[in-house]
Amino acid sequence: MPNSHSKLFVPGPTEVRPEVLQAMATPQIYHRAPEFSELYGEVQPKLQKLLYTQNPVFLFTSSSTGVMEGSILNCVKKKVLHTVNGAFSERWYEISKICGVPCEALTTPWNVAIKPEMVEEKLASGEFDAVAVTYNETSTGLLNPLAEIAQVIKKFPNVLLLVDAVSAMGGVKIEVDKWGVDVCLAGVQKCFALPPGLTVCSVSERALARAKEVGPRTYYWNFQEMLKYHQRHQTPATPSIPHMFALNVQLDAMFEEGLDRRFARHEEMAKIVQDWALKHFAIYPEKGYWSKTVTCISNTRSISVDQLSDTLVKEHGVLISEGYGQIKGKTFRIAHMGDLTVPDIRGLLGTINATLGL
Ligand SMILES: *Cc1c(COP(=O)(O)O)cnc(C)c1O
Repeated sequence: MPNSHSKLFVPGPTEVRPEVLQAMATPQIYHRAPEFSELYGEVQPKLQKLLYTQNPVFLFTSSSTGVMEGSILNCVKKKVLHTVNGAFSERWYEISKICGVPCEALTTPWNVAIKPEMVEEKLASGEFDAVAVTYNETSTGLLNPLAEIAQVIKKFPNVLLLVDAVSAMGGVKIEVDKWGVDVCLAGVQKCFALPPGLTVCSVSERALARAKEVGPRTYYWNFQEMLKYHQRHQTPATPSIPHMFALNVQLDAMFEEGLDRRFARHEEMAKIVQDWALKHFAIYPEKGYWSKTVTCISNTRSISVDQLSDTLVKEHGVLISEGYGQIKGKTFRIAHMGDLTVPDIRGLLGTINATLGL
């Protein structure tokens, strides 16, 4: 067990503040006691405020991948269209295939964003009743134009919009109700800056109706069952209560900072990293779609990313991320999400400059 902590500049898990870690250590309460429902009831409106929604926001004790699977099992009756342009959207498509749910992929090269007209063209066939979109592709640092994609999906009244917002929620503004996002899910180990193990998921009335129509195909991820318990501020199974204490504290901190200021801080950090990357390297995804929470840098100088990472950890106690999947070695990533600050980012880039002699 290493006793020296490296500060995390990786796209999850992110650095957790001591106050939040402390909240995780709150003495346990019984999940069928009134204190629990009180805690649940406190957290709920805060999550709705964060997501700009009136929808119930369920809390699943699992990482995001579980809820990606759950949303497919609950919300697809006919066929789901997966937008695929990175490792995580590919994972979601794989999930549908393994679950035996009819599905098709709309694929672009990993550095190219999914455009609304591509989605519209696919939906015109009438065979789909759901679209699964990865908002921020963490593997490529690409932010797909979700608001615009949502706009075209609105033209197809029976099509649900399922969104993996894992590396965006809490760092980028997501207007769930205005955009018409039916399922919006995110694990808390990214922009929420909590330890991993809990996933937040808003579910629209339309999605709940679909789940009812589809009928139960899963026990643990059953949205209708979640709703039943949600109404009495509980969860069907024992949840990660430590996470709920921590989430409550962290949501308060987010509102104290101010949501707009929080989103602006993410933009500012992104701009600093991206300006630096353009000066010394190149940015992997196409222009106009760069992520606000993680930058994927093309290794145009052919540096040894392993060697750089090693030096950063051993000599400076900071951790950055290698490329993911098919772009490993060709890229590396710097996350600028959660509770990291502009001085943190400037400090990191200064250290990298010194290490590489830039
Ligand atoms: C991290 C991540 C996931 C996987 O999340 P887990 O919590 O590890 O299951 C899925 N999608 C995106 C976009 C991610 O960034």
